[in-house]
Amino acid sequence: AQDLPHVSPSDPTASALKYVEDGTKAQGRKTPNDFCADCSFYQGKAGAAWGPCQLFPGKAVAAKGWCVSHTHVA
Ligand code: SF4
Repeated sequence: AQDLPHVSPSDPTASALKYVEDGTKAQGRKTPNDFCADCSFYQGKAGAAWGPCQLFPGKAVAAKGWCVSHTHVA
């Protein structure tokens, strides 16, 4: 999984979801602490810089990224 290609922020789906690789620069975050790494759709290993996201099959998103579908892990 660590070899998955990275999602391009300009990919149509990523763009529609306002995905960014640097969550600190995201528009519309609910809290400043929301990142892919604490999203329930994220499947990366703890501490890894990139990991799979259920919304982007076959690709990896940045652990410090963010998109509008962000949902906190319960
Ligand atoms: Fe990141 Fe979650 Fe959006 Fe996937 S759904 S890109 S893990 S914020």
